[in-house]
Amino acid sequence: MTEHRTATHPNRPKRRLTTVSVERPRCPACGGIQLRKYRSIRDQGDGSALWWVQCQDDACGHRFRVLLE
Ligand SMILES: [Zn+2]
Repeated sequence: MTEHRTATHPNRPKRRLTTVSVERPRCPACGGIQLRKYRSIRDQGDGSALWWVQCQDDACGHRFRVLLE
């Protein structure tokens, strides 16, 4: 490492950070957000993860998978 430029420079202009939003997964059957993960693959080999979840809505209980790319 030979660069000592920006890390603590006092005159460095403040840059607004870009905001990237990530939606919470919702039940495709009822739209609920109370989900229980009962199985998961943390890394499928390409950096993506897969969850098996069940909707915790009493009247729904739908099971589905969530892919986190
Ligand atoms: Zn549901």
